[in-house]
Amino acid sequence: MVRAEQVHKSFGPLEVLKGIDLEVRAGEVCCLLGPSGSGKSTFLRCINHLEKINAGRIWVDGELIGYREHGGKLHELREKEVAAQRRPIGMVFQRFNLFPHMTVLQNIVEAPVLVGRARKAEARDRAAQLLERVGLGDKLQAYPGQLSGGQQQRVAIARALAMQPKLMLFDEPTSALDPELVGEVLDVMKDLARDGMTMIVVTHEIGFAREVGDSLVFMDGGVVVEQGDPRAVIADPKHERTKAFLAKVL
Ligand code: ATP
Ligand code: MG
Repeated sequence: MVRAEQVHKSFGPLEVLKGIDLEVRAGEVCCLLGPSGSGKSTFLRCINHLEKINAGRIWVDGELIGYREHGGKLHELREKEVAAQRRPIGMVFQRFNLFPHMTVLQNIVEAPVLVGRARKAEARDRAAQLLERVGLGDKLQAYPGQLSGGQQQRVAIARALAMQPKLMLFDEPTSALDPELVGEVLDVMKDLARDGMTMIVVTHEIGFAREVGDSLVFMDGGVVVEQGDPRAVIADPKHERTKAFLAKVL
């Protein structure tokens, strides 16, 4: 579902990604770990072309992201084409980014109706179903400000799901939450994983990685230092840097 080959990304003189290779098969959950500044968020943003890569390639569901290959050369896609590539890629951030002036229902209905994917009535029905699924069937008319952080994050997940994504990217979805609210968001993510969603999850929740992850990728300094079965990597990390990091977060 996702393949990254030798992805490089710099911001001016700062080289943030130094040749990332990664493969995530359909239905897999890949957990991405690494210290602050190691390039995790940047890499996620490259997957949906929110950041342009300087070298390498990324495919999502067989589509080369951001470019068309022609005669051995890469040509940048137009904004409209990039938008179409982004549509099946859901993204959930650390901060919930809901529209504060819209109800929960409006937040979810907005995008599918806007891109002409669905008629309003249909989108509302689906939104109600999705809210039921994330345990918020009774909050349709609430405003984000009336919800807890965990509830807002579940709305954000439902909003991403409303676009019927093939891939979900999560960037530390629970790290802004009070500890007692983390579980309810992880439960929704576990449920999604069980339903076969392909997911890349940046997280420091080692328990989640161990329980739900199909693979664990440890990044440091813009490279993949170590990857493998989460249980194996967590129980017996091979690299010093992985050991040192895990010792801090465990
Ligand atoms: P954290 O765990 O703190 O979220 P991260 O692994 O997600 O860290 P990134 O946010 O990808 O790290 O940042 C990697 C490096 O790239 C950092 O040094 C950061 O300052 C730099 N960086 C990220 N975005 C930009 C930008 N738009 N312009 C310049 N530098 C950037
Ligand atoms: Mg980050």
